[in-house]
Amino acid sequence: MGALSDRSPLFRLLLPALFLSLAACGAPRDWQTAASGDSRSGTAEAARAAPEAASPTQPRMEPRAAVYAERQMVAAANPLAAAAGLEILRAGGSAVDAAIAVQMVLNLVEPQSSGIGGGGFLLHFDADADRVTTYDGRETAPAAATPSLFLTAEGEPMAFFDAVVGGRSVGVPGVLRMLEAAHRDHGRLPWPRLFEPAIRLAERGFPVSPRLNALIAADEHLQTFPTAAAYFYDAEGEPLPVGSILRNPALAETLRRVAAGGADAFYSGPIARDIVAAVRTAPGNPGRLTEADLAGYEAKRRTPLCRPYREWRVCGMPPPTSGGVATLQILGLLERFAIPDLEPASADAVHLIAEASRLAFADRNRYLADSDFVAVPVEGLLSPDYLRQRAALISPAKTLGEAKPGTPPGLTVEQAALATPRSQFTRTSTSQISIVDAAGDAVSFTTSIEGAFGSRLMVRGFLLNNQLTDFAFTPERDGRPVANRVEPGKRPRSSMAPTLVFDSDGELEMAVGSPGGSTIIAYVVKTLIAGLDWELDMQDAVALPNFANRNGPTELEAGTALESLVPALETRGHEIEIDEMTSGLHAIRVTPMGLIGGADPRREGVALGD
Ligand code: GLU
Repeated sequence: MGALSDRSPLFRLLLPALFLSLAACGAPRDWQTAASGDSRSGTAEAARAAPEAASPTQPRMEPRAAVYAERQMVAAANPLAAAAGLEILRAGGSAVDAAIAVQMVLNLVEPQSSGIGGGGFLLHFDADADRVTTYDGRETAPAAATPSLFLTAEGEPMAFFDAVVGGRSVGVPGVLRMLEAAHRDHGRLPWPRLFEPAIRLAERGFPVSPRLNALIAADEHLQTFPTAAAYFYDAEGEPLPVGSILRNPALAETLRRVAAGGADAFYSGPIARDIVAAVRTAPGNPGRLTEADLAGYEAKRRTPLCRPYREWRVCGMPPPTSGGVATLQILGLLERFAIPDLEPASADAVHLIAEASRLAFADRNRYLADSDFVAVPVEGLLSPDYLRQRAALISPAKTLGEAKPGTPPGLTVEQAALATPRSQFTRTSTSQISIVDAAGDAVSFTTSIEGAFGSRLMVRGFLLNNQLTDFAFTPERDGRPVANRVEPGKRPRSSMAPTLVFDSDGELEMAVGSPGGSTIIAYVVKTLIAGLDWELDMQDAVALPNFANRNGPTELEAGTALESLVPALETRGHEIEIDEMTSGLHAIRVTPMGLIGGADPRREGVALGD
């Protein structure tokens, strides 16, 4: 990134916007100041003073301006978490240092989405070395897990929430081992310092946000287990009101131990014992996790997937997530069409992107899984010849309907196709952290406990994931194995797609990612195309209405201008579904004029910078 001097005329031009944006985004939200007193479960005043809760099924879309900064920036899903990241950057911390502080605060203030009981994928750019490193902190299946983990006694796939709630769905958490590895490689501040903001907030308390309140209220399973019930509900059994101050001394104590003893303090000893006990004794649905599973967990550095897209180079995460491969396939297919000439989110654009997406999802559903266990033809799926052949299936005039998986070069084992059933419920979990530091290093980190509140099991102040339900429940079909079946030690296929983009000179241009289950891929593709091809500013690119095609109906975001495209898309043969499509995109664009941040107006996050 070209350094932006405060004497530069361009910078002076941007300065007023910069301060206005920072002032707006740095200011506490009404719900952050609504609470008073020490009531853990909140006050009637707080509840009355709070704005109407954003329902998880009815996200609020307030227009926002992009945020500008000169040197460093954090974009994350909660203002307190973003502020913790900025505090660390200001103390001389690196992007990785800041990411660790943000994750720990998110664990506290956005407990439904991510935390040390979960997993994630982190892409890092080292500007000095001009190198991208990826860290895989995805959960693993316990050694005692078998392909029939999610089958009933009759051999049928379990009902989804029967599998999710309790110990069965809990994979070995990967976040702390992964962050420890990233910190060894790229940390600048001492490890314990990075836990200070979260410990401080956990002890003093934080105001319950509208989204946390709404998700507690909407959840039917959180009251199943006494620890989670006691934490998230008041004495009358009501969800904690918006703005009420919630303290988490148990999490503070856990974080103190990890701050002092490193990730080892989590993966063995009393914390590990309590995790295993909670999983194995979960009433009704115990799991098979052992202390040996925890002690043996390894985060992995993997070779990043980087491919050209027009004048840029786009880098994503390889398997076990399908996010990187699918994103790069979609872009590779679209490169053959004049997307930059089309109106943003017009019928022509939505049609072509939906068609490319169908083709990518057909391949994803058949071939993508943990490549340490299954031969995934990654090179073949991304080879220009293969993408050229597949792109020839796309017609600008008519949908190709349900796409069949292709036969990529290098295919060694024919996997059984298994269309992943699209989830019937709104995705409400997972979090994206995007950071650029003053040295030009960057992090794009997508982190998750899977569904909202994960398995609902709470141990020592944090929730345990339900990530194992990202495996296929059905292990084989027509006598052939399904790539994403459960196997001991295997990582469930993800859709998380943390992404970094580089310009034609190899300079960092963008860090982006999103939650949203398998629609993550669509949200990230939309933002890349909006920012790169349509030259929207980072905030407008993030806010642009969402659309997706997961090799089924074309999904359009409810309540947006996209609804007016229905006739034009139906003429091309699309079956249409209008959905909420609540992304949580956090993105930073690096420009010669400085950093431009976008935070998803569908959630509660902000971009903050200096
Ligand atoms: N568990 C999902 C994945 O790894 C993410 C869930 C979500 O975004 O809500 O792809």
